[in-house]
Amino acid sequence: MLIRTSDLTLPDAITSFIDGDFVAASGHKIDVIDPATGKVVSHLYEADAAEVDAAVRAARTAFDKTDWPHLQIAERQKLMMALHDCIMDNLDELAALETLNTGIPLAQTKGMHVPRAAQNFKFFAETINQLGGEVFDQEPDVTSFVTHEPLGVCVLIGPWNMPLGLTAMKIAGALAHGNTCVVKPSETTPLTVARFIELSRDVLPAGVLNLVNGRGHVTGTSLSSHAGIDMVSFTGGTKTGAAILTSLATGIKRPAMELGGKSANIIFDDADFDYALDGAIFSSFMNNGQMCLAGSRIFVQRGIAERFIAVFTERTQNLRMGDPFDQATEIGPMIDRAQCARMLQYAESGAEQSATLLAGGKMALGYGSDLFVEPTVMLAPDNDLAICQEEIFGPFATIQIFDEEEDVIARANASDFGLVGYVWSEGLTRAMRVAKALRTGTVLINTPIVRDLRTGFGGYKMSGLGREGAKGSRAMFTEEKATIIAQQKRSFPRMGLGPAERK
Ligand code: NDP
Repeated sequence: MLIRTSDLTLPDAITSFIDGDFVAASGHKIDVIDPATGKVVSHLYEADAAEVDAAVRAARTAFDKTDWPHLQIAERQKLMMALHDCIMDNLDELAALETLNTGIPLAQTKGMHVPRAAQNFKFFAETINQLGGEVFDQEPDVTSFVTHEPLGVCVLIGPWNMPLGLTAMKIAGALAHGNTCVVKPSETTPLTVARFIELSRDVLPAGVLNLVNGRGHVTGTSLSSHAGIDMVSFTGGTKTGAAILTSLATGIKRPAMELGGKSANIIFDDADFDYALDGAIFSSFMNNGQMCLAGSRIFVQRGIAERFIAVFTERTQNLRMGDPFDQATEIGPMIDRAQCARMLQYAESGAEQSATLLAGGKMALGYGSDLFVEPTVMLAPDNDLAICQEEIFGPFATIQIFDEEEDVIARANASDFGLVGYVWSEGLTRAMRVAKALRTGTVLINTPIVRDLRTGFGGYKMSGLGREGAKGSRAMFTEEKATIIAQQKRSFPRMGLGPAERK
């Protein structure tokens, strides 16, 4: 296992990467923190409007003036596989950097998130060879082809909760389809994306993949409102997504939005009890509970409720909190003070709205920093409480008891979000019936998250617009073109004829 202090070479400062190189340090300097110790581990220099403009211009030139968008598929596949290898060859380092910067346990960054980031490149390398256009021939003597062409300059903005994994999905989809990119990670967690981009320097032509760093309201706004871009693929909070949508509307630019969630986790009496409980714990607390798809709005049927609540509470109290570099750690620190305050404030608001605190609800003391919060469980009397409606984005689960299937479906759907729904039941017919009724982009039956990248991932309602996956990413990152060919001369009204020709 890597020891973070001795094995990692950390950059003293991260700057923008534009047209194949990191630019000189200048401008506003921001600390990069290790949340497990509270120590400053690096810095970044925030890109201002001029630097954002330079990055967009580099991407524009690489798209408009080089053969990048027109590469043969075989060539592009080779490059995508090389990017996959860049990640896998540096798995230990990237996983350690991700853990250092996010506080997510190393067992998860190394075991799941970083390999997934690499898998995205392999997946799109394979997929682009399989996707074809369409041919229509309903009109007599006319053939219509639908083909997909690269869209242009894609802006890819990612959140702090899984920085490399979520951003790699966007980078892989955009590059595989022949686009150029400007990436902006969260200013809180820039380390892994910057390192990946550095590694990609030997693989990609200059200007194809550019990086800018900085706060959302400075760098993010300049980037998403820049006239030279063609689209924004954004993963983050619903409020930020709405602000970006407004600015994209002005320039009629394409949005792709992966936003928040408040996913229902429905456990029926006839579920395999221990298995469903393991699934509910994992989907509530994996990634320190900081997951858009957390299944932390739990509904349990009355027949098993008492037992479920007792064991779920005990297991939550048993979660091993601590140094995220320790392989045994299950919960690390929160990303920052605001997230800690958010957890505590929701525990308070839950209590005020007559929810019962079963576990946690307070800071955890005696760890390496003051960013550890006890994993929290509250029993909620109904679904209207803020703790059941708003995304908390931390290790915070609510439990509600239900009697009837119809009622739980109504309560599960009574949410502004619609990202994921979880159903646990040994009854196939019931599970399928409930899955069909849930208004969410993904339904998981008898399993926590599993992802076949051919399926689209995205949300109904305020959880987003668009789907990331095979076809979804193509729709996101390409323009669709219809080419219509007359196979022989066709008859159509001739206009503007002279008197002699009219007859
Ligand atoms: P934010 O919405 O705060 O930020 C996301 C990214 O957008 C960051 O890089 C941020 O920069 C940037 N940003 C902020 N304001 C602007 C702006 N005006 N213009 C352009 N960019 C901007 O989300 P978080 O980072 O807090 O991430 C947590 C959220 O992400 C949760 O709501 C979660 O549900 C959602 N999420 C959704 C997923 C999905 O697939 N549906 C997956 C994972 C997370 P900076 O941080 O530097 O301010």
